[in-house]
Amino acid sequence: MAQNYYQKEIETMPAEEMKKLQSEKLVKQVKHVYENVEYYRNLMDEKGVKPEDITGIEDLHKLPFLSKADLRDAYPYGLLAKPLSECVRIHSTSGTTGRRVVAFYTQHDVDLWEDCCARAIVAAGCDNEDVCQVAYGYGLFTGGAGLHGGSHKVGSLTLPMSSGNTERQIQFMMDLKATLLCCTPSYAAYIGESLKEQGYKPEDIPLKAGIFGAEPWTDEMRHNIEETLGIKAYDIYGLTETSGPGVAFECCEQTGMHINEDHFYAEIIDPETGEVLPEGSKGELVFTALDKEAFPLLRYRTRDICVLSREKCSCGRTLVKMAKPMGRTDDMLIIRGVNVFPSQIEAVLLKEGYEPNYQIVVDRVSNNDTFEVNVEMTPEKFTDKVSDILAMEKSLANAMKIMLGINPSVHLVAPKSIARSEGKAVRVVDKRKLI
Ligand code: ADP
Ligand code: ZN
Repeated sequence: MAQNYYQKEIETMPAEEMKKLQSEKLVKQVKHVYENVEYYRNLMDEKGVKPEDITGIEDLHKLPFLSKADLRDAYPYGLLAKPLSECVRIHSTSGTTGRRVVAFYTQHDVDLWEDCCARAIVAAGCDNEDVCQVAYGYGLFTGGAGLHGGSHKVGSLTLPMSSGNTERQIQFMMDLKATLLCCTPSYAAYIGESLKEQGYKPEDIPLKAGIFGAEPWTDEMRHNIEETLGIKAYDIYGLTETSGPGVAFECCEQTGMHINEDHFYAEIIDPETGEVLPEGSKGELVFTALDKEAFPLLRYRTRDICVLSREKCSCGRTLVKMAKPMGRTDDMLIIRGVNVFPSQIEAVLLKEGYEPNYQIVVDRVSNNDTFEVNVEMTPEKFTDKVSDILAMEKSLANAMKIMLGINPSVHLVAPKSIARSEGKAVRVVDKRKLI
């Protein structure tokens, strides 16, 4: 297959050249931030670092970290590095972890972000012949705006659907022959389920690819979506603080996401000590925006846990790759002292032939954690025989015990009884109030 790139020179740049480019950008960026952002200047002064100390990427570790707490402290304008007269847009996080962050963009920032999304769309095999259905939420959330802008840059016919109204999504998809679907994986699964219910087979659906991200999803869920929709499903990663989706994207090899490292430099650190870890180690992902103007975060701690790799990729891109994030440090539940990520539960469910429709409920009763997983029965597995249901619950609980090391109490619930998500799914209800 001929390889297509949106910005070939950057996407296939030799590592040494990339490092040089990153170093030049970093030196300029640190100066820009030091001069214009009092909040970060204070952090640098406290650490005794001056802009002159940063002569290239190898000096990056000298800079202080920024965390979500800093963003909250500095809300709303404290980290702004350009006058508001030069800013053209804001976006805000979806507030998954309860705290909103507001990010600012100049026109240059919007452009570079849309370029990143365009790289993702081209890597998913699409071009100006394609019809791109954007079913991420529009508005403050970055998903809709990012993929919408990327689709325009590529020249695809853009269907700005936003999320929700699934009937209309399906009608437009069919009538206008959408070939690319962009939304959260949980919404893609829901659209797939609705199409199936309406009697559509994968071969009836015009889609050929999907770009899904903004929340963790497993490979099992990917296969499930690919089968129902008859497509190839590509992962995309990003966060509002660094622009939005498109910070990293998947290519045809699908063994991790290429980071757009000409704009976003990635480090992996030990979340406990802050020490930078060597390539291949698992740890917290930290990003430095190398040329964003209005909201140029330096060494921003994402709290996402993953691994970086510079192994050669068959797509020809030289951009460093990040593994699928295994969850955030704050997504991780500690139940009876054991670390549990919702993605582990999802993997078990899909392996055992269930759909990814589940909710984890954690509570604390007389100082003991209770751990329940409600799972929807699938129409194929449906039975009303109590002994069969009990046996199925037991077998699922066993499979989870093997994966997690602790025993959940599994409840099979009626199909469709767990609320579907049109944006990011709510997988965990933690009633323990541990703070
Ligand atoms: P919020 O923090 O409110 O969810 P965002 O909408 O900016 O704000 O979400 C960014 C976060 O979403 C990332 O830090 C990451 O945890 C998660 N995320 C985004 N894309 C992916 C992906 N492809 N796989 C796993 N997690 C993702
Ligand atoms: Zn690749």
